[in-house]
Amino acid sequence: MTTAAEAYATPGFGVENLPYGSFTAPDGSGPVLGVRLGNLAVPLERLLDAPGIPAPSDAIRRTLAAPNLDLLLAAGRQSWTDARVWITEALTAEGSDSPARAASHPVEAVTLHLPFTVADYVDGYASEHHASNIGKMFRPDQPPLLPNWKHLPVGYHGRAGTIVVSGTPVPRPKGLRPEPSGTPSFGPSRRLDIEAELGFVLGGTAPAGEVPLTQAADHLFGVVVFNDWSARDIQGYEYVPLGPYLGKSFASSVSPWVVTTDALTAARVGPPQRDMPLAPYLDDDSLENWGLDITLEVLVDGRTVSQPPAKTLYWTAPQMIAHMTVNGASLRPGDFIGSGTISGPNVHERGSFMELSWGGAEPFTLDSGRTMTFLEDGQSITIKATAPGPNGTVINFGEVEGRITPAS
Ligand code: CA
Repeated sequence: MTTAAEAYATPGFGVENLPYGSFTAPDGSGPVLGVRLGNLAVPLERLLDAPGIPAPSDAIRRTLAAPNLDLLLAAGRQSWTDARVWITEALTAEGSDSPARAASHPVEAVTLHLPFTVADYVDGYASEHHASNIGKMFRPDQPPLLPNWKHLPVGYHGRAGTIVVSGTPVPRPKGLRPEPSGTPSFGPSRRLDIEAELGFVLGGTAPAGEVPLTQAADHLFGVVVFNDWSARDIQGYEYVPLGPYLGKSFASSVSPWVVTTDALTAARVGPPQRDMPLAPYLDDDSLENWGLDITLEVLVDGRTVSQPPAKTLYWTAPQMIAHMTVNGASLRPGDFIGSGTISGPNVHERGSFMELSWGGAEPFTLDSGRTMTFLEDGQSITIKATAPGPNGTVINFGEVEGRITPAS
């Protein structure tokens, strides 16, 4: 007799991680809510009454016997902790190895779905190096950061309905592209790009609207890897004066396994030094650290081109939550915030092809010897991420992948 954790854990997907996903079993049943342990997708519904596994409370049973995370997200912080404690007990109980194995499927045999219903989506702009790079390219005669950037976490409301799960093909979007003549042309984007980001999955309810910074982390359920595909030509023509629209709304891809904030305690670090005094509602100087030492990795057709470091993000997820709600806007379970493209100070840490190719002016060479600037039809883009876990372990986020298909 042994425990499921001992029998099935793999580096990155041990019992200290246990990310949540929603999947259909190989026989077509489901979708069900589950966790990943090693290379197993464990359906939680089938653990609830398994022999040799401690029975959960009715409240836990209700949130876990579900097709996805929606009920758990709505149940709030205490329920998140209770559920994780029970799942951990279940998978570390003596003799849990055989019931867990009997209930589970190999990860590669299940069909993964969007793990929660996206409520509202906000896209941030929290990376100083990214914002500076964009500023240098677009406004070379001005300071790289706009005057507001270090006073508030810049963002806009995006399109929740086109957030898709990893593996969903991404057709090249069409739209109006700027032309030297001044008259735009209509056609497929010529400057299709990625944005390597973290996605923050929110839950609980805030009936009064405003979520103070001291309580914001209570609404942060977990983190995914996020590719916020962007058509730079369409975006560049349309965004004045109201902001991004069709250049960003055609698809945004999330990784299928949601890593909980409870699994990220060892990854929490202080954010970069603040250069400007912050308004009281954003001032986290005396609060817990919510920088996240998560390293992303961007691959083109399986070859690494960049490793953006999320610990360099100037703004934290709790600050973005406090900012989003400070005007009284309510938060809903399933709300989703993108960090904004993550770029570090070095060239090989840039999180977009816009930056890697410096606006297309500096094509870069792939390992295969091919040069590229923006995305080509048929290319597959994968973004992976890892973070330090407790006691020298690793927390693996898995990956988000998408392949560009030709415009229809
Ligand atoms: Ca974005």
